Amino acid sequence: MKAAVVHGFREPLRIEDVPKPVPGEGEIVVKIEASGLCHTDIHAAHGDWPIKPKLPFIPGHEGVGIVESVGRGVTRVKEGDRVAIPWLGYACGHCRYCVSGWETLCQSQKQTGYVLDGAYAEYAKAYADYVGIVPKGVDPFDAAPLTCAGVTTYKAVKMSGARPSSLIVVFGIGGLGHLALQYAKVAGATVIAVDLLDEKLDLAKELGADIAINAKKQDPVEEIKKLGGADAAICVAVSPKAFEQAYRCLRPGGTVVFVALPADNYVKIPIFETVLNAIHIQGSIVGTRLDLAEVFDIHASGLTKVIYERRRLDEVNECFHEVESGAAKARIVFEV
Ligand code: NAD
Ligand code: ZN
Ligand code: ZN
Repeated sequence: MKAAVVHGFREPLRIEDVPKPVPGEGEIVVKIEASGLCHTDIHAAHGDWPIKPKLPFIPGHEGVGIVESVGRGVTRVKEGDRVAIPWLGYACGHCRYCVSGWETLCQSQKQTGYVLDGAYAEYAKAYADYVGIVPKGVDPFDAAPLTCAGVTTYKAVKMSGARPSSLIVVFGIGGLGHLALQYAKVAGATVIAVDLLDEKLDLAKELGADIAINAKKQDPVEEIKKLGGADAAICVAVSPKAFEQAYRCLRPGGTVVFVALPADNYVKIPIFETVLNAIHIQGSIVGTRLDLAEVFDIHASGLTKVIYERRRLDEVNECFHEVESGAAKARIVFEV
């Protein structure tokens, strides 16, 4: 089968013929229809993070397709079902995190497109218990970005405490951000979008953002402080500077939600103001299978719109550059 493979960090991916996976016990093989490009795949291929993937590997954790074969003991899905392969490829199912609705914190987890080979391929293998079930009526090309960008920002909005009276800021209107702002609107909040590119801000307005701020032209902290400060700021921009602005634009008692994972791993945040203003600093990592099911239901009810461009998998290296430069509109989804 054809796959895009990372052989070395910061090297172009190679399109190659690799053996088609065979499902083991509890596993399935999925014929991929649509495979989203998350900025995480770029971090993975660059070896940006403290824990690095083992080379070579196939990235991709927004894989949507049809179950082609099932291994021994699989009862949850059957051949012909449409499923979504998310970042959380496997969790143990019995630790304190798994049994308390925090499977995303399982210390035995295996991440798709990082530890496990991912969905930049014609076929991908997955643990049957950890795939999402794509409901009828959700298009596979919409389902792909929802499988990471959607579930991650849906969870982040939940963690932000957004409600109808809230003022919520989203820093970074890319793949994640264009969905984050829609979930904050679904929660009833007033939403401010911040990015460095006017095209991203125009899109944010089209998708329902109430206010848009170009951080290259205006100081977002000053502008948001004029409105009394934000109840929560969700940072999905790949830049420590944006995290610091997200922190500083909060009202007392506010929450900053850390979601993006820039290679430059540190921010500078004051202790004194955090204590006196009782600021919440909240990390948020993807979402559970239940969160993903909710994301698909919300989309099926017509409450969210996924913005994507379809591309061929052999254009993967150009696509990485487009995402890094901000030229991509929101998400790129490969047709495999
Ligand atoms: P993306 O490249 O599609 O979007 C990033 C956006 O941020 C772009 O629109 C860019 O113009 C904007 N931006 C860059 N610098 C900015 C700044 N200083 N101020 C405001 N906006 C700025 O990326 P993505 O796929 O949406 O992913 C975003 C980040 O989230 C990545 O680091 C990715 O690894 C991470 N991520 C985290 C999780 C999680 O569970 N925590 C899940 C998925 C992705
Ligand atoms: Zn992702
Ligand atoms: Zn566990």
